[in-house]
Amino acid sequence: MNLEDIKTIKKLLSVLQKIVIVPHKNPDGDALGSTLALWHYLRNSGQKATIIAPNDYPKFLKWMPGNEHILNFEKENRQAKNAIAEATLIFTLDFNHLGRIGQLQPLLEESTAKFIMIDHHQAPADYAEITYSDVTMSSTCEMVYNFIEYLDDTDKITPEIANCLYTGIMTDTGSFKFSSTTSRTHQVVAKLIDKGANNTNIHNKIYDTNSPSRLHLLGCALKNLVILADYRTAYITLSQEELDACDYKKGDAEGFVNYGLTLEGICFAVIFIENKEEGIIKISFRSEGDFSVNEFARTHFHGGGHTNAAGGRSDVSLEKTAEHFVSLLKEYKDQLSA
Ligand code: 5GP
Ligand code: MN
Repeated sequence: MNLEDIKTIKKLLSVLQKIVIVPHKNPDGDALGSTLALWHYLRNSGQKATIIAPNDYPKFLKWMPGNEHILNFEKENRQAKNAIAEATLIFTLDFNHLGRIGQLQPLLEESTAKFIMIDHHQAPADYAEITYSDVTMSSTCEMVYNFIEYLDDTDKITPEIANCLYTGIMTDTGSFKFSSTTSRTHQVVAKLIDKGANNTNIHNKIYDTNSPSRLHLLGCALKNLVILADYRTAYITLSQEELDACDYKKGDAEGFVNYGLTLEGICFAVIFIENKEEGIIKISFRSEGDFSVNEFARTHFHGGGHTNAAGGRSDVSLEKTAEHFVSLLKEYKDQLSA
């Protein structure tokens, strides 16, 4: 953001707006942490704001302060539609184009509100008055901290805001270990702890949430792990039948994809999860080093994300998807070889 942008935002927020805040579909810790933190900040500044999540999200993300005020577009459809129809200012957080918000897309495309995008994904679309996009950022939560700092308002960071922002930075950096974690990230996190973020408690709430069925599912996933040493690749499949047998709930497979990367020599890890209801295979891609899973997901699986973490989907069967994936690897042999 430049000085001109900051001036524009200060002006916009100097009058009462009807604000809507939208995270991406299947929101994660960063998407929810950033929207909730911004919501608290705007409300404490005297604005009226509504968060609309495109769909539901896992239970381990439902404890954050303010969560009960989030509208789920699939459940509270009328209220959400009214809020969008009335909106004069719409913040879109943690995504780079309106194709990432599912059923909300046409409503936002038709809206006459002004848009502010805060996001760290590659290739941001050009729909916002203010586009605060920075792919070097660890997380959208770190950017919301910066946003508040740009507005000279860090003294308005309450413990609620600090807890939400800490959560998103922690989840998007894999607990501060991904290469996107900078010294500045640690400085921001230190400030958030000073402002009341309860780091140990947040860690427990996010990560110590296993159920017996989730551990069984992890066992099944690890049994299904396929290692393609020639391509330094490992992948996992989970069929709908296997998910059902483990009483699968949204978010239960979170983090499973990372196990592939813990193998020595493996730099590309993938998980394919069947979703019979939506008729798709949801895919998560992870890499270590230069191999861009963003490019890979974009080119072959209708997806995208970051260099080392991306997602996508396939519309053919689980078996065919895995077969197709393996057949693609030949093209990347040079990049994937040691
Ligand atoms: P995950 O694999 O954890 O769902 O997502 C990893 C990263 O890729 C996140 O930054 C997420 O926003 C992005 N991502 C996940 N699924 C998709 C998708 O279908 N399309 C795009 N463009 N990005 C995705
Ligand atoms: Mn993010």
